[in-house]
Amino acid sequence: MPAALPPARQTPLAMSAETFRQLGHDLVDRLATFLEAVPDGPVTRGEAPARVRELLDAAAALPDAGAEAGPLLARAADLLCDHSLLNGHPRFLGYITSSPAPIGMLADLLAAAVNPNVGAWRLAPMASEIEAQTVRWIADLVGYPSSCGGLLVSGGNMANMVALFAARVSVGGAAIRRDGIAAGGRRYGVYASEETHTWLQKATDLAGLGTDAIRWIPTDASQRVRVEALREAIATDRVAGRVPLMVVGTAGSVSTGAVDPLRELAALSREHGAWFHVDGAYGGFAAAVPGTPEDLQHLAQADSVALDPHKWLYAPLEAGCVLVRDEAALRHAFSYHPPYYHFGDPATNYFDLGVQNSRGFRALKVWLALAQAGRRGYVQMIGEDIALSERLAARLATHGDFEVLTQGLSITTFRYVPAEWRGREQTPAIAPRLDALNEALLDRLQASGELFVSNAVVCGRYALRACIVNIHTSAADVDAVPALIAAHGRAIHTAGAS
Ligand SMILES: *Cc1c(COP(=O)(O)O)cnc(C)c1O
Repeated sequence: MPAALPPARQTPLAMSAETFRQLGHDLVDRLATFLEAVPDGPVTRGEAPARVRELLDAAAALPDAGAEAGPLLARAADLLCDHSLLNGHPRFLGYITSSPAPIGMLADLLAAAVNPNVGAWRLAPMASEIEAQTVRWIADLVGYPSSCGGLLVSGGNMANMVALFAARVSVGGAAIRRDGIAAGGRRYGVYASEETHTWLQKATDLAGLGTDAIRWIPTDASQRVRVEALREAIATDRVAGRVPLMVVGTAGSVSTGAVDPLRELAALSREHGAWFHVDGAYGGFAAAVPGTPEDLQHLAQADSVALDPHKWLYAPLEAGCVLVRDEAALRHAFSYHPPYYHFGDPATNYFDLGVQNSRGFRALKVWLALAQAGRRGYVQMIGEDIALSERLAARLATHGDFEVLTQGLSITTFRYVPAEWRGREQTPAIAPRLDALNEALLDRLQASGELFVSNAVVCGRYALRACIVNIHTSAADVDAVPALIAAHGRAIHTAGAS
C-alpha cells in the first residue's frame, strides 16, 4: 500500500524560513570568526588517518532516525574548521590550490539555494547567460578571442580532457564517434613535453588513444619543450603513418611554472594540421599581467585552452574552464539529441558542449569574483603573487643554507644544503643524501603546520617547491620562510649525523 498522505506534508528535510535564517546566520557568524583566525593557527594539524577517523566516529552506521539540523551543522563546522588543511592560510605555499575568495564562498550558497540546472538553457536561463558571460570574460582576461566557445568544468584535468575530445573529432573526423578511434586502422600521435601534467595520461587513456599515443618530448635547461625534438617526432610518426592529432603546449608547468615556446608550437601545429592545445590550468591567467613571459600572449593562437579558475582566479573548488576557438568543435564532439530533450531555444544548452548532463552553477563564484576585482584587481593580485615568489627566491639565495633551482611565474624550487655539503651537491657521495634530507625535510615541514610547501623533481634533483597562489600571503610571510625551513633542515641533518 502506498503511504497515506496527510493534507499538509511534513518532510524530515523541510526547514522553516525562520529556522533557515537562524541557522544561516549562526553558520556565517561562525565562519567569519574562523576565517579571521586562520592566520593565527596552524596550516594543518597533520593528524594521522586513525585520529581523523576517531574524531568523526568513522565506523558509525547510517542513523535510522534523523536529527536536528542546528547541532549537525555545528558539529560539521567543528570537524572541518579544526581538522582540515587550510589552503587559505597565508603560509600555505603548497601545490597550486588557491586561497578561496570570500565572495566565492557566498556565491556557492546562493547557487545552491536557487539550484539552476545549467545543463539546459530553459532550466537555467539566467545562470546559462551568466556562464556564457563568464567564459567570455575569462577569454578576454587572457587575450583569447572572445568569439570562442567554452564552458566551466570541474578543474584543469577535465578542461584538458574536454579539449582532447574536441581535437579527436576535429582531426579524426565525425565517424570516430560511431566507429571508435581505431577504425580504419588509423593511429594518432599526441605531442607534449615531459613536464606535462599527468592529465595527459588519463585523457589519452579515456579517449581510447592509449597512453602509447603520447610522444613525450624532452625539455631544455629551462624546462621548456624542445621544439626541434617535437618537430622530429612528428616527422618520424608521419613517415610511419601516424597522424599528428594534438600538440600540447604548457603555459605554466606544474613543477616549475615553465612556459613552453607557444608561438613556435602554434606554427608547427598549423604546418601539420594538428590541433594546438594550451594547458594554462595554472599559468594561463598570468597572460593578463605585464612583464610575464611573452609566449603567454600566443595562447591566443591555440585551438583550445584549459584554465583553472580554482587556481589563479581564487575561486573555491571546483572550477575549471575550457575555451575552444570554434564552439562548433565542442558540439561536434559531444552533442547527441535523444527524444527526451526538445529544447528548441536559440540559446546555449551546455549539455551539448561537454561531458556532463545535469550541471551545477560553477560559474557564479567565478563571475562574481571577476566582477568584484575587475581586470585591474586580477592583474594586481596575480602580479603580487609573482613578485612574492621572486622575493622568496631572492631571500633563499642570500640566506646561505639553500640552493635555488628555479623561479618561474609564482613557483620557486629550492633545497636545503648543509654547510659542509656545499660545493659537492652533485657528487655521487652527496647527491642521494641531499635528496633524502630534503625529502625528510618536506615531511617534517608538512606535519609542522608552520608552513606548507610541496616538492618537485628538477633535473633529477629532489626539490622543495613553494607556489604562491594566495591572496593572504604577505612579504612578511615570505621573509620568514628561509629561517623557518633552515631550522628544521639543520635539526634533521644534525640528528642524522649524530
Ligand atoms: C593543476 C593543473 C592541472 C590539473 O588541474 P586540476 O584542477 O587539478 O584538475 C593540469 N595542468 C596543470 C599545468 C596544472 O597546474
